[in-house]
Amino acid sequence: MSRADERTVPSFAKVNLGLEVLGTRSDGYHELRTLFQTVDLRDDITLRPRRQGITIECSHPGVPQDESNLAWRAAESLRRHAKVTRGVAIRIEKRIPVAGGLGGGSSNAAAVLMALNRLWRLDLDPDVLNRLGRRLGADVPYFLVGGTALGLGRGDEVYPLRTQVKAHLVLVDPGRPVSTAAVFSRVDAGLTPRENSYTIFRFVSRDLEGATAFRLLSNDLEQAALEEAPDLARTVGRIRGTLVREGALLAALSGSGSSYFGVFDDPQRARRAHAALASQGFAVHRCRTLSLDQYRKAWARALGYISVRSWR
Ligand code: ATP
Repeated sequence: MSRADERTVPSFAKVNLGLEVLGTRSDGYHELRTLFQTVDLRDDITLRPRRQGITIECSHPGVPQDESNLAWRAAESLRRHAKVTRGVAIRIEKRIPVAGGLGGGSSNAAAVLMALNRLWRLDLDPDVLNRLGRRLGADVPYFLVGGTALGLGRGDEVYPLRTQVKAHLVLVDPGRPVSTAAVFSRVDAGLTPRENSYTIFRFVSRDLEGATAFRLLSNDLEQAALEEAPDLARTVGRIRGTLVREGALLAALSGSGSSYFGVFDDPQRARRAHAALASQGFAVHRCRTLSLDQYRKAWARALGYISVRSWR
């Protein structure tokens, strides 16, 4: 097959602007309420048609290059569902920090579902993709939507918000992975029956107006993640201090960590925070929020025109 058959699609990262753990469900998962936000930090996924079988390659050595890769599993689930006999070669150019709470694997899975649905001309409904996505991971349905969205249930019931957050972000990867399962078991150990907090609802009902609303938000997993990794707690203290000093409206852990981020309305402040953290030796990314509309447009651009015969 020639390179002309290849198609490269974007796979964006997310942060959780807020995350509330409401309790444990009868199926063992946690009942969450979270505010998702896509950012323009992205992996690139290149898809090439093959006569049969799925192959996977990734530029990051820490990501599995076999059937356990979420992008591989996404392609396989679509093939099974739609009884496709053709194959695909998948290459992932990783830029999203791995195991950092930025949803890289889930985003890759959603990107493969959306791209192959189009390239294989399956024309499956969004709710079919949603169903396949849910089985791959709780964050996958969100990446089928993107932008600023409320996640309920396991985080897999996704409601895009009318008003989309527009901000500059500084993401810091402390380079110290934390196990998501270990963080949740710590939360469970400390989860006494309590009043549910309503900060995300209050944030949403303020219609995202003004910077002060960000003060309402926090991540219920942060304390547990920092208890799980006391060395990380010290590092996070420094990161947080710098972000706040430089004027972040919100500084928080994303998901179960260990990426930490600051939200800024002023690009100059974001630039200064980025420079200060980079000079302290941290791996830092400066990025912007991506609205629902921008997310859709990026996808429309990537998959807009397909004439290549070998995908038929
Ligand atoms: P989660 O909170 O769901 O564990 P995360 O956002 O913290 O996810 P990811 O970058 O998705 O972090 O990686 C989680 C784990 O998933 C990694 O340790 C990696 O081994 C595995 N994985 C499988 N497929 C992928 C993929 N395509 N990209 C990244 N990681 C993947």
